[in-house]
Amino acid sequence: EFGLMDDPAEVEAATARARSGSRKPQGLPSVRDFAFAATLGEGSYSEVKRATYLRTGQEFAVKVLDKAFLKRKGKMSTALDEKNALVRLSSGHPGIVRLHHAFHDQYQLYFVIDLVPNGEMQTLLSRIGSLSITCARYYSAQIVDALAFMHAKNVVHRDLKPENLLLDENFRIKICDFGTAKILEPGAEPDQTFVGTAQYVSPEMIQKNETSFSVDFWALGCIIYQMIAGRFAFQGLSAYITMEKIKKVEYAFPEGFDEEAKDLVQKLLVREPTERLGAGAPGTPYDMHALRSHPFFSVIEWETLWNGSVPRLQ
Ligand code: ATP
Repeated sequence: EFGLMDDPAEVEAATARARSGSRKPQGLPSVRDFAFAATLGEGSYSEVKRATYLRTGQEFAVKVLDKAFLKRKGKMSTALDEKNALVRLSSGHPGIVRLHHAFHDQYQLYFVIDLVPNGEMQTLLSRIGSLSITCARYYSAQIVDALAFMHAKNVVHRDLKPENLLLDENFRIKICDFGTAKILEPGAEPDQTFVGTAQYVSPEMIQKNETSFSVDFWALGCIIYQMIAGRFAFQGLSAYITMEKIKKVEYAFPEGFDEEAKDLVQKLLVREPTERLGAGAPGTPYDMHALRSHPFFSVIEWETLWNGSVPRLQ
């Protein structure tokens, strides 16, 4: 177990001690270099804690995974896949959490990632219901831009949903949770495991456990729908019924749904993965130009997407 350090004065003193060289501040970091504070979130296999890196005073989110638990559940390789996907993406994109360090001790694995302070898109949606069309467009564009980077690195996320879209200090999006991500190298063995979340999972994943870059674009369609409509595109009384609806692509737009957004959603929620907007042949990256140039995005300034002004949430 690692100790909690909640008192800011104590953290500051520990940072000062670390910096003054009372302990050698070189080499790989270890758990003793972090002062752990509040829990930010809990997943099925992990706990994410806020922590200060004592060598620099910088704050991070540290995802802590229990080795014995992972072994018991046969999920050790999944945790390593998560790390490998994060390493792949660590050259950095503003819309994706960055891995700064990864280390382990006898009991746990630790992933040190960007601290994203404004919570999940899901929490925001639960609070305000739906987003204005301006906000929905802005966030959709940020997801598209982050996916372009991710897929160009051959990483497919496979569990995109508002819970995994975090909001940074400026309320821009950062995609997190690469626990189900897969590196899709050309010519690699196809992955045959079912992953995802009922409301956002694609028909081909339900029917054939089929992974491709296109599963992220199905989820994108579901997320755009949800941000605007304020409800899931596909929702039944059980996960089974939800997935039955997905297999039939059975959903309806509420009255007054923005026409351009509707056109985009209809071009993403297409049963055949290779026929979704911008999809190429299986295993090839998306034609992001086809997505970026969709009329829904015509007012988006892609060059300033990550440093221009952020529309006011309402
Ligand atoms: P799940 O089982 O739900 O897939 P998980 O074990 O894969 O979860 P994550 O989704 O990575 O864990 O993290 C759990 C939660 O912790 C997130 O939904 C989020 O609320 C919070 N969290 C994760 N990463 C960060 C971060 N970098 N900054 C702030 N909060 C974070």
